[in-house]
Amino acid sequence: MIIHRNTLAVLSLLVCSLALGEPRSWTNAQGKQLQAEFGGIKDGNVTLILTNGQSATVPLASLSADDQTWVRLNASKAMASVVDPADAARVPLDKRRMPTEVKEPMLYMNIKVVKEELGECIYESGHFQFKTSAKLGAILMKDVCRAFESTYELVRLMPWGIVPKPEEGRKKFQAELFATREQYLASGAPSWSAGVYVRKDKVFRMPFNELGISNTVGANGAYYRKGEINNDTITHEITHQMMHEYLPYMPVWLIEGLAEYTSNLAYKGGVFSVSGDGGAFLAKQPGSRNRGLFGAVRYQPQWLGVKEMWGYTTDISTRNEIKSYLLSDRKEKPEDGPGTVRLTFSTPPPSMEMLSSRYRSSHILAYFFVHENGGKRLMQYFDALHEEKKKWPAFWEQVDAHNAEIDKLKPAYDAYRAAMKAFMQQPGVQDLGNGRFSYPKTLTPPAPPPDAPKALEPPENTDPDAVCMKHLRILLGERTLETVEAELRTMFQKAGYSL
Ligand SMILES: [Zn+2]
Repeated sequence: MIIHRNTLAVLSLLVCSLALGEPRSWTNAQGKQLQAEFGGIKDGNVTLILTNGQSATVPLASLSADDQTWVRLNASKAMASVVDPADAARVPLDKRRMPTEVKEPMLYMNIKVVKEELGECIYESGHFQFKTSAKLGAILMKDVCRAFESTYELVRLMPWGIVPKPEEGRKKFQAELFATREQYLASGAPSWSAGVYVRKDKVFRMPFNELGISNTVGANGAYYRKGEINNDTITHEITHQMMHEYLPYMPVWLIEGLAEYTSNLAYKGGVFSVSGDGGAFLAKQPGSRNRGLFGAVRYQPQWLGVKEMWGYTTDISTRNEIKSYLLSDRKEKPEDGPGTVRLTFSTPPPSMEMLSSRYRSSHILAYFFVHENGGKRLMQYFDALHEEKKKWPAFWEQVDAHNAEIDKLKPAYDAYRAAMKAFMQQPGVQDLGNGRFSYPKTLTPPAPPPDAPKALEPPENTDPDAVCMKHLRILLGERTLETVEAELRTMFQKAGYSL
């Protein structure tokens, strides 16, 4: 494959469901009463969230006349507040505000048990589907899903206009949770990782143990919570998942930096405090507990500087400085066509110490852009990405068609090459160099294969491997990297954080 394959954005279906808060008393046509929260209405069926956290679906018609009226009133309120998610969230820049805090969305934290079988269980919360390799049960799952749903809510409420959308027409985001580390590693997860969002599969994976759940069953034969659920790793990886549509167009330092940013916000009792994030950053001063990905790492990570970080474009483990995003500026154009091999240079993998400095520096740089100038530049940047991501699906479809065509031509090219080789060995055929040759009139050279399809033109002459650099000008404004470095140092100095 020449270039990575982007996914097609598919608008998820709107389902009318909305937090309407308090439980109320419901009466069915037979006069039977129960306490429950309204969980939405779909296809004439009302979802009720019972006080024990389970949900029940009942036909609207089976409820009392008063209840039916209540549902109609409140469901229409819910519908009115749900508009096209992709564009509606893009309120004008001057109206966007950083939330001061983000509360866990209670309504979405009700667990539906889809399947509980030996070796595979499926649970669903409002926005996530969890596949687990062992039974966790609805009560423990509710604890687990809290960090997932809260991160969804956090990313949605940040002023970047992102409406998290499950991938490729899926109804829910996918998470796979493994009872043992062996199962987790067998899924292809890196051996040093605590949890991972796999961009290719668009799945979040994590072993029970890292989640904060026992990795063996307790005395009663059930898994149990071991203290706090590990919100930091979940928040980091789920931030990636929530932003998956934008990731192909962002440099890796910003991708990782924003995930570190969200996962380091103070999170207590189901509330992220966003305004207090400076404090959360300061809490990471030397000697304090490391959070996020490097919770277990003892190194003192170093600030690597804006200029150095700007080169972490496509991979956090290898620096890859990109001078221009324009295809026409690319020095060595790789030959297109059958059998093209891209050279990759293998460098030794970075040490954990190096990695932790890169993640910390990504965090610092992302933090700077989240806050400087009221966060406006970063908001404008995401506005540009929002438009950028619309330009590519058509191109990627062409790439697929192009690659398929090349695959189809490959046998013809192979056959031609073989026929030419045999032909050149015929008596009287002379190689004149540069692909020219002479041959006796009695011979006929093999017919050349059809022309290879023309190379494709990506949108706006943008190098698909460098598109992550395309909109960084918006973050810089008229500034150079040196100016940004100076401003960043001033910002942190003022906050009392020494870099
Ligand atoms: Zn990450």
